[in-house]
Parts: sequence; C-alpha cells; structure tokens
Amino acid sequence: MNIPKFGVSYFGNRFPGHAHRDLVVISQCCDYVVHTVSETDLHHHKGALGKIFHESRKVGLEIWADPWGLGGVFGGESFSRFLLDHPDQWQRYSDGRPAPAACLNSRRFRDYVKEWIGVVADLGAQVIFWDEPHQSFTWTLEWEGVYSCVCSRCQDLFREATGGSLPARLGPEVLDFRRKTIKGFLEEVMAYARKKGLKNTLCLYAFEGYHPYEELWNDLASLPDLDIFGCDPYWRWNRGAKDPSDHVRHFAEKLLRTARPGQGSQLWIQAMRLPSGAEGEIGWAVRAAAEAGVTHVAAWSFDGGALLDSALSENPARVWAETSKVFSILKGT
Ligand SMILES: [Zn+2]
Repeated sequence: MNIPKFGVSYFGNRFPGHAHRDLVVISQCCDYVVHTVSETDLHHHKGALGKIFHESRKVGLEIWADPWGLGGVFGGESFSRFLLDHPDQWQRYSDGRPAPAACLNSRRFRDYVKEWIGVVADLGAQVIFWDEPHQSFTWTLEWEGVYSCVCSRCQDLFREATGGSLPARLGPEVLDFRRKTIKGFLEEVMAYARKKGLKNTLCLYAFEGYHPYEELWNDLASLPDLDIFGCDPYWRWNRGAKDPSDHVRHFAEKLLRTARPGQGSQLWIQAMRLPSGAEGEIGWAVRAAAEAGVTHVAAWSFDGGALLDSALSENPARVWAETSKVFSILKGT
C-alpha cells in the first residue's frame, strides 16, 4: 500500500511555548502541519507565528499556511478586516444585495492576498493551502438563479468579453464567467506564490451532482501552478452519516482521476465534529484514502476539534487519539 504524507491543521493558539509542546506531539505522527493564518494573525500575531513556524521546522514538520477566511473568500472561522476597510471591494448579488466577501476581480483584494503570501513566505511557510475558495453563494439563492458577483468591476469585464451586461439570473454565459473569474484569481495568486518559492495546494468541497460544480472542479485541478489537488469528504456533516470508507474511497478515486500525471492528491479526514463512539471511523477513512493511493492525507483538526464550536467533537481527546494512532501505524513509527 502507498503510504501517504500525513498532516493536521493547527489553530487557536499563539503562545509559542504551548505550540512547541503540541508540535512535538504532532511531529510523532505527521509529516506536515497546516497553520491557519487569518487576517487577525496578519495584523496582530506575526511575531508569535514566526516562532511557531520556527518550532514546526525544528521538530521536522513541513509548514503549510492557510489563508483562513481571508476576505470572506476562503474557508475558516475568522472575520475579515479587509471587508471593513474596503466596503467598495465587496461582491454584489444579482438581486442587488451586497455579499460579505471580497470580489475576486478586485485588484485591491488580489494585492492583499499577495501581501499575505509575502508575509507567510517570510515567516517560513513552504506550501500554501488554498482552502475552499469560493464566490459568495447560498444554495437557496443558487436554485433561484441569484448569483454573485455583479459589481461594477465584474460588469465591465463581462461587457468587455461578451458585449452585454451581466443578467439578473444565472445562465450558461454567467456560469462560464464565474468559473473564469475564480480560475483567473487562483492562477494569479498561485503564480505569485510559486515565484516566492512556495508550493500550491488546493482543497475543494467534496460535492457532486451539480454540473457547473463538476466543470469548476475539472478547471481548477488543471491550474498550471497547482502542485497538490485535494478535497474534504467529511462523512458526518450536514446530511447525516455516510459510510466513511465508501465515501472517502469514492472521492479519493475521483481526485486521482482528475489530477494530472505527477500532480499530488490530498484527502482531508474528518477528525472533528464526531459523536462519542464514532471515533473508530477515522481509522477506516484514513486506510481507505491510503489504499486508493492519494499522496497526502490530512486531518482537520489537531485535538479533535476541541477548540471550535462548529468543529467540536463529543470526545475530542478520543478523536485525536484515534487520528494519531492510525497515522503512526501506517507510517510505521
Ligand atoms: Zn465583482
């Protein structure tokens, strides 16, 4: 069986001494650590984060940095100062309402993301983990055909490309424009990260059955500077429990079918938000991902999601114990 590289996300603590103790534990079962770097970190915690990154390297972990909730565009339980400072850079829904996320065609936002890349590169990051980038949407609006973004920047770009205005409802031309927008945004920031000597990893929602999303999935996997393509098929989330092995294997195989030759593949394991008694599912899921042949497996998150309300497990200590146990067994450590 292929033995993937193992990693885990780490957040919620900015005390270097405490982080050192956690990182020693993580280094016993993982090859890399995914540090969230939010806008709060960018404004207030660079000094401590530099030390935490340094500690990560010292214990032998590769350092991944996650633009956590940046501009409301990426996944992450974090607020955006950029949106407060730049109300004119927000997205706008096609029914006229402002959307609380930065427009992906905003020059200011793209430059802000590059500033973030420069900071994490200086702090010692080696890989950027582009976490669930998305245009603002809700399923209710999407089914009604209401979409984002129709701000003046996007209107100008759409008019340049097609000669017409962005319509009020989703249609093939809008879907095409929306896909090109997110692709263009990621292409630019990934190229910048590459120039800074960093690798790029992308995680998309593990969702299927909606044609526009399948097209987006294929398009983003083919981004030229993308080193590792991934998704997060959590089997106990909003719509009841699925079989962990089947669910993870299905998406692992889908990742491997989509990834181009030589490109890495990463599968995220649900090590959070688990009810008591379900912790053993982690082992089945990790083995299914490894047997399918992905190159990277990661757990969200360290300590079983003991920190976040949205990620809290009933017994976080057991969730982490199960995660570290199966990682260690497979690594042979
Ligand atoms: Zn826009």
